Amino acid sequence: MSETATTHAMSPRTAEAADGIVRSDVEAVNSAVRRTLYKAREPIYPKSVKGVFRRAKWIVMAVLLAIYYIVPFIRWDRGPGQPDQAVLVDLDRPRLYFFWLELWPQEIYFLAGLLILAALALFLFTALFGRVWCGYACPQTVWTDLYIAVENWVEGDRGARIRLAKEPWTAKKIGKRLAKHAIWLAIAVLTGGAWVLYFYDAPTFLSEVFTGDAPMMAYIFIAGLTFTTYTLAGFMREQVCTYMCPWPRIQGAMVDSESISVTYLKARGEPRGRHKKGASWDGRGDCIDCNQCVAACPMGIDIRDGDQLECINCGLCIDACDEVMDKIERPRGLITYESHMGVERRRAGQPNRFHFVRTRTVFYAVVLAAVGAVMLAALLGREAIDLNVLRDRNPVYVRLSNGDIRNAYTLKIMNRGTEPATLTVRVEGLPDATLRIAGQTPPESLAVTVAPDEIRSVRLLVTVPQKPGMPSSQAISIGVVSADGKVDADNDTVFIAGGE
Ligand code: SF4
Ligand code: SF4
Repeated sequence: MSETATTHAMSPRTAEAADGIVRSDVEAVNSAVRRTLYKAREPIYPKSVKGVFRRAKWIVMAVLLAIYYIVPFIRWDRGPGQPDQAVLVDLDRPRLYFFWLELWPQEIYFLAGLLILAALALFLFTALFGRVWCGYACPQTVWTDLYIAVENWVEGDRGARIRLAKEPWTAKKIGKRLAKHAIWLAIAVLTGGAWVLYFYDAPTFLSEVFTGDAPMMAYIFIAGLTFTTYTLAGFMREQVCTYMCPWPRIQGAMVDSESISVTYLKARGEPRGRHKKGASWDGRGDCIDCNQCVAACPMGIDIRDGDQLECINCGLCIDACDEVMDKIERPRGLITYESHMGVERRRAGQPNRFHFVRTRTVFYAVVLAAVGAVMLAALLGREAIDLNVLRDRNPVYVRLSNGDIRNAYTLKIMNRGTEPATLTVRVEGLPDATLRIAGQTPPESLAVTVAPDEIRSVRLLVTVPQKPGMPSSQAISIGVVSADGKVDADNDTVFIAGGE
């Protein structure tokens, strides 16, 4: 009997019961799948360590946080009427100020170039040293480290924090938790507030924000950034690196067998096991299985299991293990920064040295230098006067009653200088052309004055007498010339006489 026939033969109650069984089976399978796919987060309580890499991380953190919080207060004199904040994104003008540099919206390509430079530098750095960016300089790492330092200060080191987590909610526990979260929130507010200082005059904004006179958008941004800092550094921590950030996946393409990463020297450490003071080291490895490297790891992994996606190359497990090696009087460096090839060379007893010069590192360095040189040349070659020419497209040309052809162009003339500029418009490539600026008095004048720090828009009418055999399109150049005859800026465009 077919399945359909069987179902048809069932009473409604039997069918309902069967449906119930099927549904509960499906739910059981779904819940099992959910359990295996979405493992609950196990809290990590990193143990504090002392050592070279911990010190390096403190220094990098202090420098980066100082830059972040202090830079908006650095002043830079740009003359009267100009903002005196060294680094400022002025959304009203709109301009980006970076010390001596002032970028206009039309020059956004410099920002794109800067991002490309930063990406190439990161590629080069990753090819050389693995994920050190993640371990030392990424904002997620810096703020998480800061939050863990606060946690450690308020609640105690790893053991004390684990005990506190298991304790019932006594007054002592509530007090510690409140203190920790209050400090975390204060840091989060300062982080969000400092970010907004890059968009306003910092001293003015600071007084306005407390009196309630700052723009509503600023408060919204501070609230948003406070929330993200508090959540990402306080609660999500290593999950951001493991699940949210694409970089761990991408960086696999940057590294090769000579790239350095934090490595457990298996050949030296194994076979591992507990060791009694004074007992022989013969026939065993240097790892005493104390798990201090695991306890120190902010990502909660065991580096002895080999390369792992989660490892951010922070080196804290190296410091933890070096402390242990000192205590048991074995040489430091059981866990160390090493490349795969370096491990092989050690194993073969060959001299080990870092191979910085490789095809991929040379390639990244050359591209980085080339992009940097192009950007530098473009920056140095920036003129105070700039010009953008847009040809009218509707209509593309006009035939006048006498048969002459006219094209119209919109000229946007930028004066980035501090003095007014009087410029004359000229066209090359059309010797017979008559030029006129719409609305200009006197009508034959081609002079345009542009105030400092302004963009002036004018409409240029170019008229050419109709001639037999005239090409339907001619390449021309429209430019602006200063009083000394110097061409300040020009744009290539076309004059259309028919066909479009
Ligand atoms: S394994 Fe070591 S280097 Fe990697 S994240 Fe953990 S502590 Fe940092
Ligand atoms: S800290 Fe060093 S000795 Fe201790 S378990 Fe880790 S690798 Fe082994």
